[in-house]
Amino acid sequence: MSSFFKILKKSKKSKARLGLIKTAHGQIATPAFLPVATQATIKTLTPAEIKEIGFSALLCNTYHLYLRPGEKIIQKLGGLHQFMNWSGPIITDSGGFQVFSLGFGLEHGVGKIAGIFPENFKKPPKLVKPKLVKIDEQGAEFSSHLDGSKHQLTPQKSIQIQQALGADIILAFDECTSPLATKQYTQRAMKRTHRWAEICLKVKKRKDQSLFGIIQGGQWKDLRIKSAQFISQMPFDGLAIGGSLGKTKKDMLKILDWVIPEMPEEKPRHLLGIGYPEDLNKAIKKGIDLFDCVYPTRLARHGTFLTNQGELNILNSSYRRDKKPIMKNCSCYTCRHFSRAYLQHLFKAKEMLGPRLATFHNLWFINRLMKKIRKDIRNGKF
Ligand SMILES: [Zn+2]
Repeated sequence: MSSFFKILKKSKKSKARLGLIKTAHGQIATPAFLPVATQATIKTLTPAEIKEIGFSALLCNTYHLYLRPGEKIIQKLGGLHQFMNWSGPIITDSGGFQVFSLGFGLEHGVGKIAGIFPENFKKPPKLVKPKLVKIDEQGAEFSSHLDGSKHQLTPQKSIQIQQALGADIILAFDECTSPLATKQYTQRAMKRTHRWAEICLKVKKRKDQSLFGIIQGGQWKDLRIKSAQFISQMPFDGLAIGGSLGKTKKDMLKILDWVIPEMPEEKPRHLLGIGYPEDLNKAIKKGIDLFDCVYPTRLARHGTFLTNQGELNILNSSYRRDKKPIMKNCSCYTCRHFSRAYLQHLFKAKEMLGPRLATFHNLWFINRLMKKIRKDIRNGKF
């Protein structure tokens, strides 16, 4: 067994496993949820607050950091850990997801980026030919969402950027297809992703970084199984499941049932971009070890709090005079000190403290959920 990932216990009731990932910047107890620090910051919180909440690791977005401030600046300033003053483990994605999803996402109006499965649409979006992104065997050409400047991202370049940023775990460059793409197109993109995976393994030089391969194949069983088999036999340190996870959440679970039996036991498995509390539970039972998602922090900035009873929108008029905390029995800073009425006031007055307190609570909620799941696996109750 590699020293990078150790399985400490397997559930007898499900495929859930308790594990430990070791990196140069510390350990990650799995199953783990990684909050997303898109621009090298968890929006509104300091690294000290993230540690206080209890998270050991973060995920940063290569696409954003490459465009601004640029990986060379970050490298010159000592790498991502030093730049953002985060001493724990960091994962960077390959940039592929943003390049492709900003392309098809803007054009189709869909994407995991907004936490949207197409089932949630009132009117089905029209499929149009992508214009913002040009994809060929070499990589993807795209326009920056910041200033429209043209850029090219290739498997070579993605790995070089991620090596310069210096995260502990980096991801192979893949083509992420739209949930509305045809099977024929998805298959072409999958094969390209497989060829790119080989290039990423060859290009990666840093020994202190671990590289994860990405399984694609969209919503099709034969493609997903083929991709899982192909990526699994390659010498990656871990595996991630990416791309379109179907049209509904049920599709997502079906995809996990196809893919996970093809994945090696001894490598960590990351389900990219998923993080609703109920999805975490279900995916862990199917054998997923790692998650990342902007959902809890994005919801928080819009005044929506996660609770055991579901989502609570603080702007609801019924909370105007409500003295109660957001959640009974929550021991986070927000719930210990502030009423729903005060939090509503902050959001209505557009005070910055509102999103800060909401982000703190939502991340606290997700971290407690993950802690409980790990405890339950350890005690044979999950
Ligand atoms: Zn709380």
